[in-house]
Amino acid sequence: MMMTDRELALKSIIYRRNILKYIIAAGAGHTGGSLSCIDILNVLYNDVFYNVKPDNFNSPDRDRYIQSKGHCVEALFVVLADRGFFPESDLETLCRYQSHYIGHPTKKVHGIEQNTGALGHGLPISVGTAIAAKLDKKDYRVFTLLGDGELPEGSNWEAALSAAHYKLDNLCAIIDNNKLQITGPNIEVCNIDPISNKFESFGWSVREVDGHDIKALRKVFASMPFEKDKPSLVIAHTTKGKGIDYMENNLKWHHGVPNVEEYKNAIAGLDMEMQRLTELQWQ
Ligand SMILES: [Mg+2]
Repeated sequence: MMMTDRELALKSIIYRRNILKYIIAAGAGHTGGSLSCIDILNVLYNDVFYNVKPDNFNSPDRDRYIQSKGHCVEALFVVLADRGFFPESDLETLCRYQSHYIGHPTKKVHGIEQNTGALGHGLPISVGTAIAAKLDKKDYRVFTLLGDGELPEGSNWEAALSAAHYKLDNLCAIIDNNKLQITGPNIEVCNIDPISNKFESFGWSVREVDGHDIKALRKVFASMPFEKDKPSLVIAHTTKGKGIDYMENNLKWHHGVPNVEEYKNAIAGLDMEMQRLTELQWQ
């Protein structure tokens, strides 16, 4: 059954709690980026990927999700656990010796399509997968989540050209546009703006959305493909560290791990947000 906007918004809070919980237990993780993309993953897995389930993951007709920003795997792990791909308790082994739950996605974990995390690889793999769907005359769609900080990798632009050339209207790339990367603001490290003009000139159809607005995210994905015969790009405007006030837009939390006091503060903030959303009048 379709979830309501309220149910999805509440789920995002639980996901944020779990991201912090398992990063702390592991003593490592990409905290800020996982918090910036979690609302996108929530909507994709609970609203868009109706045919991606633990018991049909071998189906050739399933939609494909390839997380190019693989370092934010903690966000993907908590969503896959919630969707029943593996017991949530598996995440207690995150980053432990011999665990498959490591700091990047690997196909050894049920529900993960591709090993990713080397920056600039997810879009090329997704283009190939979308071409395969066309050649096989399959209706499945391919989604990939890119970090804004990985866009300067040249492989993205070769892939962007190819996606338009092959008229891949079964492909949707999403940019988690939190404006920061590991060493600083994108605008200082390597400016990528204006992203929309660049992709449009490469032949893509582009939409911009608040990447934390559940309702807006649902609406934009429901309108895919944005134009016939063109690949779709969603520029999701997000905040690194979203949901934890002292982490928001703060580079320290790119892969910072909270101490006990910071963790308590974070959970108190999430509890307040849970209370606020519960009392809010939803339309
Ligand atoms: Mg970024």
